[in-house]
Amino acid sequence: MNPGTMSKVLKIADKQVASGQRRSINIPVARLYTHTEMTMPVHVLRGKKDGPHLFVCAAIHGDEIIGVEIIRRLLKMKTLQHLRGTLIAVPVVNVYGFINHTRYLPDRRDLNRFFPGSPKGSLTSRLANIFMEEIVANCTHGIDLHAGSHHRINLPHIRACLDNEATEKLAFAFGAPVILDAALRDGSLRQAVEEKGIPLLLYEAGEALRFDEFAVRAGVKGILAVMRSIGMLTSRGVKTSRIQPMVAGSTNWIRAPGSGILRTQIPLGSKIAINQKIGAIADPFDEDETTVISPVAGIVIGRMNLPLVHRGDALFNVAGFDDSVAVSESLDEFKEEIKESMPSPAAG
Ligand SMILES: [Zn+2]
Repeated sequence: MNPGTMSKVLKIADKQVASGQRRSINIPVARLYTHTEMTMPVHVLRGKKDGPHLFVCAAIHGDEIIGVEIIRRLLKMKTLQHLRGTLIAVPVVNVYGFINHTRYLPDRRDLNRFFPGSPKGSLTSRLANIFMEEIVANCTHGIDLHAGSHHRINLPHIRACLDNEATEKLAFAFGAPVILDAALRDGSLRQAVEEKGIPLLLYEAGEALRFDEFAVRAGVKGILAVMRSIGMLTSRGVKTSRIQPMVAGSTNWIRAPGSGILRTQIPLGSKIAINQKIGAIADPFDEDETTVISPVAGIVIGRMNLPLVHRGDALFNVAGFDDSVAVSESLDEFKEEIKESMPSPAAG
């Protein structure tokens, strides 16, 4: 699909949004059993000039709240006054999980395994269908915001299907130092959207139920960079990034060799070598200590924050690169750029 094929009239939940308009729309979803109405809130911004239609969504997993803050900050950006095309922001897709601080819906399903959904299916399947019909059907591009689940934290990175040239371009435009060429998972939004020929990026950063300033800023910066790359925003006056994103050749989870309490000094973004000692696990009496040795080399893009582990638990997600030194330097540079990129959060 290209911007030319999008109709001039944009309709979401039977509400029209004209060119140059900005409005909030509440899309009705299944109400609660308390009789309380439930809606998926959406904010639509249309530029006066035609252009791509981009959706940015968060909290498909209801506890991954970082994207909600990314969208809040994005919508305050003054540069949006000169928007070309349409931005559809959906800060809370899984409204049920968001209220309950959980990844899942009340029927215990994971929304990101039920796309494209169906109007006659389960609660989860219907929610997926509503998102496809009301949001995806109105868009030419998409960005889906996620965070690490279950006490795991992720280094800001992009997951995308690089076989699709348009998606690959967006992935590099986002400007995160690390890109994973991730296979499409059955039932994911990414699969359902890519099947429609719409390029979609998945941004992974931070931890569920927590904010992380670095991850938030990197997310806002990346979305703006994507919008500039597809002509929705002007690049005038914007400092070009020096980051050259690199595609990981592999990713491996290093698992706990024994059960106990983990001690480690390996932060996200660390460069680790093969056979490096990266932690120790012992019981509360410091007995039966096991050393955690890395069987792989690379950059730590995900790690467990909860030190209470069973044998086999995933501890560190390590991405392998042809040139780990270059990625490590690029990460340092990226941290500097992010620090300079925005005013302090208190101002927002
Ligand atoms: Zn997620």
